[in-house]
Amino acid sequence: MTGIWLLKPGELTLKGDNRKSFEGVLKSNIQRLFNMLDCNVKLKFTSGRYYVHAPLDKSQAVENILSHLIGISGWAKTVTCEKNEQDVLAACVEEGKKIYKSGARTFKIDARRTDKSFPLSSYELCCKAGDAVCGAVDELKVDIHSPHDVIKIEIREKAFVYSGGKKGLGGLPAGTAGRGMLLLSGGIDSPVAGFLMASRGMIIDAIHFHSYPYTSLEAKQKVIDLARITGEYCMGIRLYILNFIKVQTRIKEKAPFPWSTVLLRMAMMEAAEKTAAKIKCKCLITGESLSQVASQTIENLTCTQNRIKLPVLRPLIGVNKEDIINSAKKIGTYNVSIQPYKDCCVLFNPAHPVLRGDFMEANAIYEELNLGELIDDALQNYELVK
Ligand code: ATP
Ligand code: MG
Repeated sequence: MTGIWLLKPGELTLKGDNRKSFEGVLKSNIQRLFNMLDCNVKLKFTSGRYYVHAPLDKSQAVENILSHLIGISGWAKTVTCEKNEQDVLAACVEEGKKIYKSGARTFKIDARRTDKSFPLSSYELCCKAGDAVCGAVDELKVDIHSPHDVIKIEIREKAFVYSGGKKGLGGLPAGTAGRGMLLLSGGIDSPVAGFLMASRGMIIDAIHFHSYPYTSLEAKQKVIDLARITGEYCMGIRLYILNFIKVQTRIKEKAPFPWSTVLLRMAMMEAAEKTAAKIKCKCLITGESLSQVASQTIENLTCTQNRIKLPVLRPLIGVNKEDIINSAKKIGTYNVSIQPYKDCCVLFNPAHPVLRGDFMEANAIYEELNLGELIDDALQNYELVK
């Protein structure tokens, strides 16, 4: 048995002349994702609606893909029938029984007739379908103002009937806004930052710096897991993993201790920018949020980025921690992020860090450290996880 899912493209409907190219990317993303399902899936694209035909026993896998798909504003599993009054009303009655079983006592019908040759107007169809449902399920009442459920009818190439449509992620399809390089730590914030940029159409590559053996292998695995979960929203992520222990040790040995976090961030930015240049990323992305920790005061953020040329995007800069946590829960990264494996050893964290670093001073200290060779060494020995 085959089910049909109806997908509504999101914001790209606003794209005017560029709409075709945005649609092209969305369609090829959908195609790629469903090609990975090991079964017979048929996709059909019409203007304004896309359809996925898939075996009903794959419903869960289909819906898992749709709930991660950036670029659609909503989707619904439909009952599909011929475009005649009798079949449409019968489908509505079945839908009515279904919503009644799941607890609804009130409903309304919402009909749309894209095919104007259908003999009933949308209004007439609503009235007839409403009567048919009430006639079949005594306890269900029409409430047009605040119904428990809405049964939707769309008369297009065929008739589609559904209720309980799901809200999609919206945004713009991955691949319409170039590549960005996400600095991915094991924390809560950076996966959310990556997701937000992915939902503006960016393809995300990620880079992570670890300090093995001062940090554990579990901490590294945690970051790989975060990249995998975040990657489900952006057509996969390539994760570059670099060992930064030599850089960190040099900073610890040679620089004034209160400066060490800022200097480490500066070195991370330098390595991230060099990696980004090799793989054509057009910006860096971080999970920084203004004043969340000492290294994220406006002065220290200025120190961190002042030696690099690529733009640094910080989608969380004005977002409160509680809202970031809620987003992390929504995208499914939170429970991994809170695993207790630290991505930075406490030995390297000063108890009293510089709070408002002067970037000229930061630069001078940074240059004294001669980190170039150590950074190049880390860059040459990266590990790549796809
Ligand atoms: P997060 O929750 O993302 O770890 P945070 O609140 O812990 O953020 P910091 O540890 O100061 O903040 O890191 C700020 C940002 O710097 C992170 O969001 C991330 O983009 C980047 N970053 C920090 N540590 C690393 C790391 N080990 N590897 C790659 N990027 C990192
Ligand atoms: Mg962190």
